[in-house]
Amino acid sequence: MKRTQNKGQLYKSLQAMNLIPLLILGLVITFVCFQTTASAMHAQVEEELKNMTDAVVLTYDLLYPGDYHLEGTEALQLYKGDTAITFDYSIIDRLKAHSQIDITLFYEDTRILTTICDQDGNRIIGTGANNLVVRDVLSTGQPHFYTNTTIHDQVFFSYYAPLQNADGTIVGMIYAGKPCNNVNAAVRSAVLPAMLITLGGIVIVIVISSSYTHKLIGSLQKIRVFLSKVSTGNLGAELDPGVLKRSDELSDMGYAALYMQSALRTLVEQDTLTEINNRRYADKHLRQVQSHADLCGTSFVIGIGDIDFFKSVNDTYGHECGDLVLKKVAYILKKHMTGKGFVARWGGEEFLFVYDNADLDLARKQTEELLEEIRAQEVIYEEQLVRITMTFGLAEGGVGTRMRELLQTADNKLYYGKENGRNQIVV
Ligand code: GH3
Ligand code: MG
Ligand code: MG
Repeated sequence: MKRTQNKGQLYKSLQAMNLIPLLILGLVITFVCFQTTASAMHAQVEEELKNMTDAVVLTYDLLYPGDYHLEGTEALQLYKGDTAITFDYSIIDRLKAHSQIDITLFYEDTRILTTICDQDGNRIIGTGANNLVVRDVLSTGQPHFYTNTTIHDQVFFSYYAPLQNADGTIVGMIYAGKPCNNVNAAVRSAVLPAMLITLGGIVIVIVISSSYTHKLIGSLQKIRVFLSKVSTGNLGAELDPGVLKRSDELSDMGYAALYMQSALRTLVEQDTLTEINNRRYADKHLRQVQSHADLCGTSFVIGIGDIDFFKSVNDTYGHECGDLVLKKVAYILKKHMTGKGFVARWGGEEFLFVYDNADLDLARKQTEELLEEIRAQEVIYEEQLVRITMTFGLAEGGVGTRMRELLQTADNKLYYGKENGRNQIVV
């Protein structure tokens, strides 16, 4: 079954899962921060402007006690008590110089005194208040705060308070205003550090989460590569030790993959009864032995050993006893070959040996020791003593050996041994 691999899908999903909520959170924090600061600032500005209108009213009352009224025949003048205050900008100018707040005194809806100038630097006196303000303040007698008032192309935060005479009649309005630009700049500079901290935090979280995700996906990728190799029959594939060093579920997954590889190797390369290498693995090993000899110029000896009269063991004591004998023999062979070379179950009661870096002389001596051990082995089955012997054929190989021919030679020698008395080693 072949399928295309998903490249980086999981990485993208994990990154999106981390980044999208973070970015949304960042935006929400910034927005809420901005709104909260802006409305706090607006409240502060409103309070400031209200105080200024109170201060203007109080100053005029203290300096010029009496009511606001118009006097004159042709050119009407605004009086406060006995004093004509039209054209006397000293009070509002000084208050503005001190507070940076623009001030206007309206008689009814007309600007009489103001600190606001047009582009040519002329005070915008004589102009009227806009209809909304007239309706909200003059008509109702209630003060009003606006966050967006355009006066002569300039946008202001504005506070209008009604101007009253002693008898409570509303005669005009006092205006206090601050250009929006200044207030908004103050809001921005108050919000900026919080925004930068939030942004910095998000960047740090993104970097940490990206690096974690990267490592996570890297380990998953290594496990995937390992499993792909195993699935294509590479039972000697190695898993990056970094995956196993992790202290999370991925290292468990790595170990599980290794156990699976080992179980597969056992299934594919081991004989179930005797638990030594099977013929399939022996064939693979013989190819490696030949390549190694060709490469390094070393010699080796292969041997085929066969249990003598094994059929009669089965016939006399039963198949179960035969199995027991095979296991005992395999155990002895495995123990004997440890450090010397390789052994496998070659067929029913036939075993293959490879003595590494050995010549016939050495191999014969070592096989004699082995045969002695087998002869001495007492297999007890259902209180009956079973003794066994084996016959061996050995053949030496080296650079350029044809393995099939070498196996045939060893087999011929084994056959010769069988024909000539068994229980011996033929070289
Ligand atoms: P020889 O000395 O000429 O080798 O005689 P032999 O009886 O050992 O040889 P033969 O080929 O006549 O018989 C081999 C027997 O091994 C036949 C078969 O039933 C038995 N055998 C093969 N595999 C197994 C096994 O896994 N378990 C058991 N119990 N017997 C097995
Ligand atoms: Mg036999
Ligand atoms: Mg046989």
